Amino acid sequence: VAKAASRGSYRFYALEMSNAADERLSLENDLRRAVELGQLELHYQPKVDIGTNRIRSAEALLRWRHPTRGLVPPNVFIPIAEDTGLIVQIGEWVLRESCRQVRAWIDSGMSPVRVAVNLSAKQFRHVDLVAVIRSALEEAQLQPGYLELELTESAIMDDAEKSASTLEFLSTMGVHISIDDFGTGYSSLSYLRRFPLDKLKIDRSFVRDLMSSPADASIVKAIISLAHNLRLRVVAEGVETAEQLGYLRELGCDQYQGFFCSPAVPPSAFEALLQKLRADLPELTEADMLRT
Ligand code: C2E
Ligand code: MG
Ligand code: MG
Ligand code: MG
Repeated sequence: VAKAASRGSYRFYALEMSNAADERLSLENDLRRAVELGQLELHYQPKVDIGTNRIRSAEALLRWRHPTRGLVPPNVFIPIAEDTGLIVQIGEWVLRESCRQVRAWIDSGMSPVRVAVNLSAKQFRHVDLVAVIRSALEEAQLQPGYLELELTESAIMDDAEKSASTLEFLSTMGVHISIDDFGTGYSSLSYLRRFPLDKLKIDRSFVRDLMSSPADASIVKAIISLAHNLRLRVVAEGVETAEQLGYLRELGCDQYQGFFCSPAVPPSAFEALLQKLRADLPELTEADMLRT
């Protein structure tokens, strides 16, 4: 790239580079401050049972409300948080806050939902992870079955040996483990039988063109049957239309997430959603919720 055709364009490129570096540095500083000032928020997106239309869990998704830039998307600031190590502190807050939120929902009489927390690779490898999870659950007086962790294939395969023992430990505690963005990360499937997993989440990129692309439809079908043969539940990400949902139902997919039900919303809006969908369903007991 440095071999830009003319001096002019090279200079232009160098300028852009330094702008990008400045931009990043400034975001990095702002992020540090945001963590200190508590400017990060969690929004929640429902995971819905396709069979019953019931909300079974809430995926906690980070939102950064920047004072001048507005809402900064996680795809922009999570990589920075990873590089700087800030992710450990942020991730700990996410775990504590989402457990606290579920406790608050239980105490206010909402039907029980599990909370799903995304873990980045660095956070997953961090020595304190299990202790932090334990103390987040204890603080909120939650059974481990209320917590689900979402990990990507690459986060798990980064140090497969260590992952196996961490996951074994968490799973024995009763924490649920999901593979996020399944199908995009790692080419070997042998890890699926090595680790104690509960769910595969089919990446949004396969769901987007499900109705028009026979190749994507084949991949989705294959993932669903693979998951079921391994006795895992399968969740489709990024469902936006009734047609996609109908097709996934036909294929036997267990749960879905996506704008068709709701994007990630602030806690109060999530409560409203729970109330609305609850109206025409029989009560779900805590025991039922924890069983699946
Ligand atoms: P992810 O865990 O795969 O989350 C799914 C992303 O897809 C979310 O983007 C969600 O808002 C979006 N999404 C959900 N349904 C639809 C849909 O129907 N259509 C479309 N177009 N998009 C949909 P978001 O919130 O921007 O998060 C992006 C990624 O940032 C997440 O991907 C996750 O990897 C990461 N992330 C978010 N929160 C955290 C966190 O607390 N910790 C860590 N380590 N990563 C996080
Ligand atoms: Mg996720
Ligand atoms: Mg995902
Ligand atoms: Mg994703």
